[in-house]
Amino acid sequence: MPVKRITLHNGKEHSLLRFHPWVFSGAIKIKDDVAEGELVEVYSASQKFLGVGHYTNASISVRLVSFTPVEINDEFWFNKINKAYQYRKELGILNENTNVCRLIFGEGDGLPGLIMDYYDGHVVFQAHSIGMHMNRENIVKALQKTFGAGLKSVYDKSSETLPKQYAAGVKNEYLVGKGGEQVVVKENNCKFIIDWEKGQKTGFFVDQRENRLLLSKYSKGKKVLNTFSYTGGFSIYAALAGAELVHSVDSSAPAIELSKQNAVLNNISNHEGYAEDVFDFLKDKDNTYDVIVLDPPAFAKSRDVKHNAVKGYIKLNALALRKIKSGGILFTFSCSGVIDKMLFYNSVSAAAIEAGRNVKVIHYLNQPADHPVIPFFPEGEYLKGMVLWVE
Ligand code: SAH
Repeated sequence: MPVKRITLHNGKEHSLLRFHPWVFSGAIKIKDDVAEGELVEVYSASQKFLGVGHYTNASISVRLVSFTPVEINDEFWFNKINKAYQYRKELGILNENTNVCRLIFGEGDGLPGLIMDYYDGHVVFQAHSIGMHMNRENIVKALQKTFGAGLKSVYDKSSETLPKQYAAGVKNEYLVGKGGEQVVVKENNCKFIIDWEKGQKTGFFVDQRENRLLLSKYSKGKKVLNTFSYTGGFSIYAALAGAELVHSVDSSAPAIELSKQNAVLNNISNHEGYAEDVFDFLKDKDNTYDVIVLDPPAFAKSRDVKHNAVKGYIKLNALALRKIKSGGILFTFSCSGVIDKMLFYNSVSAAAIEAGRNVKVIHYLNQPADHPVIPFFPEGEYLKGMVLWVE
């Protein structure tokens, strides 16, 4: 079947020639009768081939999966997924101590609209575009070819990530395997129970792996507070690195329960979990800590709430800075894509001024290589952090 075509207005090809993979609706001049999620070939006004991608009737109308003419068949999907897997193995992200990582990070892996996390042979699949969801069987085949018998299950958890109009008809389900077993993974030899069915997002926040490892360096003999702790990622690293005591705080009671189970799993006895609002916890208790981790959810998901997000970051960081002992350390993060690095750094500086604390930046942090940022698509950069030494 011939692939349908989209032709752009004159001059609208430039971003695609720079390998930015999105076509906005306003750039389209002529469009065949294309169905939602269907593959289209995109051409410039002078009929130069620009790429092939999934169409959807929205502001971002096409997400390109290739900038060269290629048939989107089983071989195409296998090449993309196998390449992403080999990249993670070659970089040593997956190794004898770590069997969990992000396997596909959308645009960063040349597959806009697709997120997949890998948990020791189990894959959690989240489609953010209807086109990717319609290709799920092809993607499963590619996973089976990539991992062979090592593929234990594939769970489609797209009902939470697809645009609302499609999500309604979609249920989360196993595409391979049937679940029901407790899965324990290891990340830098720290063990974690993963519950992707009931947990948040794909079940675990794999993007903090390297930043958690860095926390280990500063934790020995320290009183550590891990806020927005979810299932205790940072807490387990700190405790195993010899922290004197570790407190986890998260508003989700099931997450705190799992952080306690993770502590037991790792033979940790000096961990306490609190199912509380972090702002209240920081205000109410007069504890002080040597090390505090702030890893809040995205305060701004769109540009119109950016200002409120900045206020949120300043308030939170100021509260935490007041709780840090002299000579202590703050790990502070933002995962809001719309808050750029400089704005975040400035917000943290403002917080230090407000709290009256003199600080030194000892690390600037970002997302790891299994969440690749490609220079042609700066929108892919979302996680940033700082480590401050607090006088
Ligand atoms: N640091 C975690 C990931 C944090 S995700 C890790 O390494 O795995 C953000 C977490 O913040 C979620 O678990 C969510 O339940 C929690 N959360 C959101 N708002 C909160 C609030 N006001 N107080 C406490 N926890 C909150």
